[in-house]
Amino acid sequence: MNRPLGIVFLAVTMMLALSAAVAKEWVSGIVWPEPKLVDPGPGGGPPSDAVALFKGDDLSQWNGGDKWLVENGVATAKGGGITTKESFGDCQLHVEWASPEKVEGNGQGRGNSGIYLMGQYEVQVLDSFENPTYFDGQAASLYKTKPPLVNASRKPGEWQVYDIIFNAPRFDPQGSLLKPGYVTVLHNGVLVQNHTELLGKTDYEHPPVYTAHPERQPIHIQFHGNPVRFRNIWIREIPESIGKYPE
Ligand code: MG
Repeated sequence: MNRPLGIVFLAVTMMLALSAAVAKEWVSGIVWPEPKLVDPGPGGGPPSDAVALFKGDDLSQWNGGDKWLVENGVATAKGGGITTKESFGDCQLHVEWASPEKVEGNGQGRGNSGIYLMGQYEVQVLDSFENPTYFDGQAASLYKTKPPLVNASRKPGEWQVYDIIFNAPRFDPQGSLLKPGYVTVLHNGVLVQNHTELLGKTDYEHPPVYTAHPERQPIHIQFHGNPVRFRNIWIREIPESIGKYPE
């Protein structure tokens, strides 16, 4: 380095050091509650603050579960849908599922089930591995509302994971919609629904329409005639974190 350049370099270095020394940290002034400790558990959870809806032993948390086949930690859809005995609103829901290994049927008839948030907003479960159907009805679609952003399906018979973040719709006391519902879905870890707005109850025959309902409702898993398997289902209420300025 020649001399004049060296002097410029030295001057710049000193200015940077000086500005770092006098930098003042900005703080928002908001007083936040300390985030609670949650043990995330093994990969795939459940975290310590989750409610286990199916741990592999029985479907006692569900109405209709007696019709399903439970063995070796796996519940297989049979004879009708199942509905949680408890009700839930805003939540994080983890569901592992597998469509039948032996491929039968096509389109909507192949590995069809569904996770019905509040019993009426369906995140589609379908064998969408090389199985064309209408896009807003394939796996991880919000049924007839929005296709997934990408198709992250695994092969028939392989275990797949949905991690669903749900913000329930809100209604005023007169039953008018105050705020629509929103759904985010990771399918096998891949973002496929990004805070997608629900337009109302998802239905085969009718366009989506909202009908006022309580802030908490049971979750339903569909039986659509196919022996879709499930395991490791858990749910977390979404905690609030509200900060306040000191008075
Ligand atoms: Mg379905």
